[in-house]
Amino acid sequence: EAYDKFDEVDNWICDSLVPQDAGLESTLKTHGGSVLDPINVHPNQGKLLYLLAKMNNAKRILEVGTLGGYSAIWLAKALPSGGKVITLELDPKSAAVAESNIKNAGFEDKVEVRVGPALETLEKMSKGGEEKFDLVFIDADKENNPGYFKRALEFSRAGTLIVVDNVVRRGRVVDAGSEDPNVLGIRKLFEMFKNEKRVETTAIQTVGGKGWDGLAFALVVE
Ligand code: SAM
Repeated sequence: EAYDKFDEVDNWICDSLVPQDAGLESTLKTHGGSVLDPINVHPNQGKLLYLLAKMNNAKRILEVGTLGGYSAIWLAKALPSGGKVITLELDPKSAAVAESNIKNAGFEDKVEVRVGPALETLEKMSKGGEEKFDLVFIDADKENNPGYFKRALEFSRAGTLIVVDNVVRRGRVVDAGSEDPNVLGIRKLFEMFKNEKRVETTAIQTVGGKGWDGLAFALVVE
């Protein structure tokens, strides 16, 4: 019965603790129209990403799943001068909106949007000898989470934090018989987390303006 308060409490948290600047506000307004679904992180989650990036002194951040650049802008806000967010997006229309939002927010020097299927972009980055990242945020098609995590590990050093969004999906993730590729992608990711010696991991359920979902965290330790 508390469910009807998720939204109200989230709004209160955001009003109390997450003031947004004009760049973020106008970016939010580009979601929910004809190009972008409103599937960006909620403002308090964006602020969480920003705080995690600061806690990790992140200078180089990789994001998989740009949409309109909302989370990328939050991440960019945490960067020192010379810092960089590289964000990967499949859909050229979303990428174009993201680039315009990023420019409008004043981060065109810090955020680079790379268009194409992220697994292919990551392979190119691997071949090109991409430098390591301090933080990786995975928030694209969930069925490819295992592949994204593998590449994230490749681009990590001890201390890199890997964050994965939408790992609970209103509880559907515990349905062991599920054939939903998104659920399968998350369950496989958790198996990889469990068996991978290079990471220490946890996940938490989240409720709020985006319903019931969850975030997973993998800290690279070696
Ligand atoms: N991180 C964004 C934010 O919070 O503002 C939201 C990202 S949205 C949940 C997921 C995005 O991943 C969509 O824009 C979608 O087009 C993109 N996507 C889906 N499949 C992809 C793929 N194979 N490669 C790259 N991006 C993909």
